[in-house]
Amino acid sequence: MKYLDNNLLLNSVIDLIDDLIFYKDKHFRYIGCNTAFLNFVGKKAEDLIGKDDFEIFDHDLACLFRKHDKLMLAEGSVRSNEEWVVYPNNNKVYLLTKKIPFVYDGINTGILGISRDITSLEKANQQLKQQTLLDELTQIKNRKAYNLKIKSLLAVFERYQTPFSIISIDIDDFKNINDNFGHDVGDTVLRSFGALIEKNIRETDHLFRIGGEEFVILSESKTKVDAIQLAEKLRKIVAFNTILTDINITISLGICEVTTGDGPNSIAKRVDNLLYEAKSHGKNKVTYHSVT
Ligand code: GH3
Ligand code: MG
Ligand code: MG
Repeated sequence: MKYLDNNLLLNSVIDLIDDLIFYKDKHFRYIGCNTAFLNFVGKKAEDLIGKDDFEIFDHDLACLFRKHDKLMLAEGSVRSNEEWVVYPNNNKVYLLTKKIPFVYDGINTGILGISRDITSLEKANQQLKQQTLLDELTQIKNRKAYNLKIKSLLAVFERYQTPFSIISIDIDDFKNINDNFGHDVGDTVLRSFGALIEKNIRETDHLFRIGGEEFVILSESKTKVDAIQLAEKLRKIVAFNTILTDINITISLGICEVTTGDGPNSIAKRVDNLLYEAKSHGKNKVTYHSVT
């Protein structure tokens, strides 16, 4: 052990580590890094050592790194952050980075950073988050997604008066489908129905399954007049198409537009009343204003 070169050993260990390790002086210039870091950013050591982030990366990326460096130095303790980073070689990754102050020549304090590529973990997390907003049976956005969307539309309306409309859809006599063909066929009808509606609406029309055979469309930027047109079009498409080879269904729809002072509950109540009127006036109908 007497002849062991500690520096050499340390460098070999650092180079073996998959995490990206780098260290900078008090002027934010790179003093060193490991091989994983060089490979990741697509640079050679000589293009990096002695330079700061502004000489190496594009302005936005350099600003980001500098911001975290400064915050960490100001706090004087370990600092972690997670974010998407696109390196010059187009390597787009989600990094968990920890930075700590380190004394590099006995008096000066520099920055020691360790970044871990957690891209696959972040992607899995995002996928999971998406899944919680989807209805399992139809793979259409669920009630939770609806609650989030209507809140954000209401906030935009309050601030900019951007209108939006809500179309409530209920399949007529759906119980008969289950009774006549069985629950499994009923499920397939729900899936096909959802797909048929999705196919016939635009990106700014958001379809949700909020209950058994109850669906809602939130139509971004649409006034009631436009929403009525869309609802009438959908009513006809459903009525004139067979959902499965031998099954015909119809739908009833209620429509209303957001108005000043609305909250998620008031708007839902109005549209539900309209839907109820459509049902009581014979189903397969679009209702958009109260008869009372
Ligand atoms: P209305 O025209 O008045 O809307 O009559 P309806 O039969 O459609 O309405 P009702 O509320 O009486 O019945 C809804 C039916 O939808 C009853 C329920 O069993 C069925 N349903 C709810 N969720 C599901 C589901 O996930 N799969 C299947 N197959 N059926 C469902
Ligand atoms: Mg219903
Ligand atoms: Mg129904």
